[in-house]
Amino acid sequence: MTNELKQYYGKKITVKFQPEKCIHSGVCVKGLPAVFNVSKRPWVEPDADAAEAIARHIGKCPSGALQYELLDGF
Ligand code: SF4
Repeated sequence: MTNELKQYYGKKITVKFQPEKCIHSGVCVKGLPAVFNVSKRPWVEPDADAAEAIARHIGKCPSGALQYELLDGF
């Protein structure tokens, strides 16, 4: 299995996702459905909420599949 890293670029945050680590707990999609929606492509919309709120929520991902990088915005 490859260690694939997907990146979703927002204006203030880059969301990083490693699919093979995901344990499908649903924490991300239940907590911030506007940002994490598996019915949409791409399934991560990093501009759909405040970057700080997304970062806080990513901290709750139990597997570490989701990570982030906050951008300065300039
Ligand atoms: S919170 Fe993390 S482990 Fe749970 S579904 Fe989302 S990415 Fe996967």
